[in-house]
Amino acid sequence: MPTDVLACDGCGQSASPEHIARRLLRLEWATRYRPVHIGALLLGSVSPFAEEEFLYRGRFQGEAGRLLEAVGVSTPGKSPETVLSEFQRSGFFLTHVLECPLETSEVLSASCPSLLAERVSQVLTRIRRSLKPKRVVLISDSLAPLAARLSSAELGCPVILDHGKPFGLDSCDFSEAALHLRQALGLATAGV
Ligand SMILES: [Zn+2]
Repeated sequence: MPTDVLACDGCGQSASPEHIARRLLRLEWATRYRPVHIGALLLGSVSPFAEEEFLYRGRFQGEAGRLLEAVGVSTPGKSPETVLSEFQRSGFFLTHVLECPLETSEVLSASCPSLLAERVSQVLTRIRRSLKPKRVVLISDSLAPLAARLSSAELGCPVILDHGKPFGLDSCDFSEAALHLRQALGLATAGV
């Protein structure tokens, strides 16, 4: 079987050599800042397509910037290493149901929900056996259809939700979702 028809173990998409190389790189960046004991696992839906938006790349654009803002880690005047160390020391670790970006925007519209649904059992196993967080926080609106399967019973730890739904850090109500997230995690909300 040619290697390009094998599925990537991080996302289930076709694993071309380029795809695997990019996956390994993201894995390496993230592993560097993985807390020994994960206090709160922030679970998104799909790793962002733009490298600059992938938190552990250290550029803090888009999704990464919003996430840091939501958990109250400031970036101005700090090196990427300082910012990521601070995030790590707070016990946070970010991962996604699909650990790789979607290969095309066509996939995004057509098969993203099914790709996500197909990955749930692998994600449950990864969280229970490998990441073992104290709690899991769902941080993407697009995880709403999966919320029932990503339950405390399945994950073996509390799942933090925003009134029964994922925190919509990727939604147009970002500010409110971020505020709710800080309150749910017991982070300071002063000055917001
Ligand atoms: Zn992949």
